[in-house]
Amino acid sequence: VHALGIDLGGTHARAALVDAQGRIVDSLRSKLSERTPEAVTRGIAEAVQQLFQQNPHAEKTMSGCGVGVAGQLDAPKGLVKVAPNLGWRDVPFGQMLQQALGHPVKLFNDLTAAAWGELHVGAGRGIRDMLVVFVGSGVGSAIISDGRLVRGAHGLAGEFGHVKVVPGGRQCGCGEKGCLEAYVGGHHLIAQMQELAAKPEGSALRQRVGGDLKKLTPVVLEDAVREGDPAAQALHSTAVGHLALAVANYVTVLNPARLVLGGGVLSRCPLMREQLGKGVATLGSLLARQRVEVVDAALGDDSGVIGAALLALPNP
Ligand SMILES: [Zn+2]
Repeated sequence: VHALGIDLGGTHARAALVDAQGRIVDSLRSKLSERTPEAVTRGIAEAVQQLFQQNPHAEKTMSGCGVGVAGQLDAPKGLVKVAPNLGWRDVPFGQMLQQALGHPVKLFNDLTAAAWGELHVGAGRGIRDMLVVFVGSGVGSAIISDGRLVRGAHGLAGEFGHVKVVPGGRQCGCGEKGCLEAYVGGHHLIAQMQELAAKPEGSALRQRVGGDLKKLTPVVLEDAVREGDPAAQALHSTAVGHLALAVANYVTVLNPARLVLGGGVLSRCPLMREQLGKGVATLGSLLARQRVEVVDAALGDDSGVIGAALLALPNP
């Protein structure tokens, strides 16, 4: 038995054939040169076609296709409501992809998929109460309670990037202001660095990239922090401060056995990871913070495709 798992991020899509034990049999990654729903659908369909050509028996044994999408969904209707990093609103992506692939397609939030992958074959193995927080270009989370995904009444539970940390604060891609993601999501960290580098107090940051503000990344920010640039330190500590407090409160509310941390920004920014760990260890409620085990995601880029595939199997 195989399932097809697809992970649709803001810059790349990845398709993988996954077996029932959650092992990747084969996978392909394609860069999204164009982000219109039509172009993305076409790109994914081509990648899937190629996977089936490379694995001629897989299509016959395929029993589901799951797609993890970075955004807010109306999953039962196959609708992507808001996907800030793709610039999508109300896109009937489930239906579009189903037509292009000729197979039924189920949509999941990308973090839901990643959490399900980590739970079954990664950092969550053997755990029944787990909180997963990822910081990449966006910020997301997923909640596993008593071995099950918490989805909420409208499938919106765990939308952690959009908890408010500064009422009326920075503009977020979701259309609202003051969301956590607007401070610590990779795209927004870079935007804040570019704003800073354009000001006199950001001259050190500007010089660091030879005046080319397009070269500013969260990794550049951490280098500047380590070398004592005060303006970079202020930006970093505000962003990480919001993240740490929000995650600590989340741990207090949910009392997870394990907190799994991952995502492109968090995995490349050790200072952020360290300060987040310290924040949870000091700002969570006493009993919850003493008992929670804080670990890094174990599957890297693979968690999304594995989880989406496993969720698409008939009895996940
Ligand atoms: Zn938001």
